[in-house]
Amino acid sequence: MKNQSNSPQSGDRVAIIGGGATGALCSVLLAEAGFQVIALEKKAIGNGSSSRSAACIRAQFGVRETALGMAFSGHFYEHFHELMHTPSDQQCWMIRHNGYLFLYEDPIFYEGDQSKHKEVELAWIHAQSQAAMHRDIKLPVEVLTPSEVHVRWPHIDSSRLIGATYCPSDGFLNHDQIY
Ligand SMILES: Cc1cc2nc3c(=O)[nH]c(=O)nc-3n(C[C@H](O)[C@H](O)[C@H](O)COP(=O)(O)OP(=O)(O)OC[C@H]3O[C@@H](n4cnc5c(N)ncnc54)[C@H](O)[C@@H]3O)c2cc1C
Repeated sequence: MKNQSNSPQSGDRVAIIGGGATGALCSVLLAEAGFQVIALEKKAIGNGSSSRSAACIRAQFGVRETALGMAFSGHFYEHFHELMHTPSDQQCWMIRHNGYLFLYEDPIFYEGDQSKHKEVELAWIHAQSQAAMHRDIKLPVEVLTPSEVHVRWPHIDSSRLIGATYCPSDGFLNHDQIY
């Protein structure tokens, strides 16, 4: 950095270490903010996890801050082309909201390791309070009964379930396009 103050200023030079998704995005945002950016990659672009991701994206996480961050991430990918100024001939779908359904087994039917029985009982209680937290931050998470699961997804055997949570905005990213 060329300026003598401790705080970075537009025009300063910045080195980003790592040519994965994090390094690429930081480079773009810093360059847009006026910094002179150089990104350094030790091997090849996408050498790390970024070329290996299964591209699942969901906001149904247990920590409020993570759920909020993932909701922002969903918004970012919905507006990816606009935000990243993708050339119009390269614009294609970036996020598919197929929704994620989490199924919870009724502890009555649990036949596994009995030391884990309490864990199974608590899982559903925890899932319901997590869904309340999600709705509190405006995520469209639904709490479903086994019969509601059966009506919407008849191929799922709901007979051993106690309930489910479903978030229609969870889904998959177009990994190749992002990478
Ligand atoms: C099999 C797999 C499946 C995954 N599935 C999902 C998924 O479904 N959904 C999801 O959200 N996340 C998923 N992830 C996680 C996700 O891929 C990573 O969180 C994300 O790609 C991390 O990006 P990154 O840029 O921080 O790191 P990376 O992509 O790992 O990039 C780090 C880069 O830094 C370089 N580097 C390291 N040290 C140096 C150095 N000293 N000098 C220069 N360069 C250096 C490396 O070569 C590498 O290219 C998955 C990960 C894996 C491995």
